[in-house]
Amino acid sequence: MDFQLSDEHQLIREAAREFAEREILPRVRDNDRAARFDRELASKLGQVGFLGAPVAEDYGGRGLDYIGYGLIAEEIGRADSSARTVISVQTSLVAGPIEKWGSEEQKRRWLPRLCSGEGLGCFGLTEPDTGSDAANLRTRATKTDSGWSISGQKMWISLGNHAEVALIFAQTDPAQKHRGLACFLVPTDSDGFATQEIHGKLGLRASDTAEISLDQVEVGEEAMLGEVGDGFKVAMSALENGRYSVAAGCVGICEGCVQSSVDYAKERKQFGVPLASFQLVQEMITEMILKRDASRMLVLRAGLLKDEGKPNATETSIAKLYATEAAVECANLAIQVHGGSGYVDDYPVERYLRDARVTTLYEGTSQIQKLIIGRDATGINAMLPLREI
Ligand SMILES: Cc1cc2nc3c(=O)[nH]c(=O)nc-3n(C[C@H](O)[C@H](O)[C@H](O)COP(=O)(O)OP(=O)(O)OC[C@H]3O[C@@H](n4cnc5c(N)ncnc54)[C@H](O)[C@@H]3O)c2cc1C
Repeated sequence: MDFQLSDEHQLIREAAREFAEREILPRVRDNDRAARFDRELASKLGQVGFLGAPVAEDYGGRGLDYIGYGLIAEEIGRADSSARTVISVQTSLVAGPIEKWGSEEQKRRWLPRLCSGEGLGCFGLTEPDTGSDAANLRTRATKTDSGWSISGQKMWISLGNHAEVALIFAQTDPAQKHRGLACFLVPTDSDGFATQEIHGKLGLRASDTAEISLDQVEVGEEAMLGEVGDGFKVAMSALENGRYSVAAGCVGICEGCVQSSVDYAKERKQFGVPLASFQLVQEMITEMILKRDASRMLVLRAGLLKDEGKPNATETSIAKLYATEAAVECANLAIQVHGGSGYVDDYPVERYLRDARVTTLYEGTSQIQKLIIGRDATGINAMLPLREI
């Protein structure tokens, strides 16, 4: 067992940190205040190879392993969760599924544009009436002579207002339940495809979030990703990697909380001595360090399993559950260390708390992660109401 990062991984971490300091930190507060999605920053993430980093070089990616991808998500997540969300969605929820399930034609058409950041993609699973119960989609895909007609609503879709392609999950035959689901690559300029911005988010304000409506959107046969019946598997495999990147981003939030708190506690004096001299302040910092290190180890374990091609759904859920809850707790503690100064955006810690809060909701809530972990341990699926078991 080797706890050291390789030289290559160190270089990836340094490159991501240097990018975050140069390109993200100077604009993060203004983008958050203005609730502005920074399309230019998304392009820059693509230019430096941080979108679709694990995608094969043949398709425009960097061919990185998952440890390397996690380090990018961590460093960008430390600077700005909205930018990290662009990486997670574009890489794990859009490019990844296209690479894994797509035809050669679909890969050639979409992946180079997604990896370079020229085009953005979005992942349309959640609906107004369907969140955690993702197999129970209302969006319908009906067979036509030349392909499919899709109608329905999608809710809370990250990058939805700026994407040029949307992965749309739809039911082809309600009688088949999750075996009737299919995933379609829908160009967002299709007739009948419309989006609306969702405003007023607690955090992740510089991330774009959309409600999407599809009114008899016509697509050809070639738009289907995988086959009829693969939709649920496409969604779950995408989320398995998405959760990993969210967890890695949360390690970054924990790290940011520790660093900001240590710096502040050494600089700020009360009772004639630095805050860092007080045992109760050190205790808060220690709590954060414990959560950061445990999160990091869990993320590395999930990443190693992915790189070895071994099953990792449970380990990824453990990392996601722990790291996201840890990020919320660390951000809360970091505000406490900063006192009143932690309550305004002169320091990053109040934004860390607002941004961390969504990570225990999206890509499967903390409750859903617990049910996945519990199902693996007991063999019993407690996600369904008791009467249906
Ligand atoms: C900012 C943001 C960005 C998002 N981006 C995307 C995106 O890009 N694409 C996308 O498809 N979705 C996206 N989502 C949606 C997100 O994945 C869902 O919000 C999430 O899956 C939860 O679904 P829900 O909101 O409908 O909550 P619900 O499923 O209604 O859950 C409400 C509460 O009930 C609990 N609950 C539900 N079922 C059970 C159960 N069986 N047992 C115990 N407790 C349960 C939940 O844990 C939660 O606490 C985004 C959400 C947000 C807020």
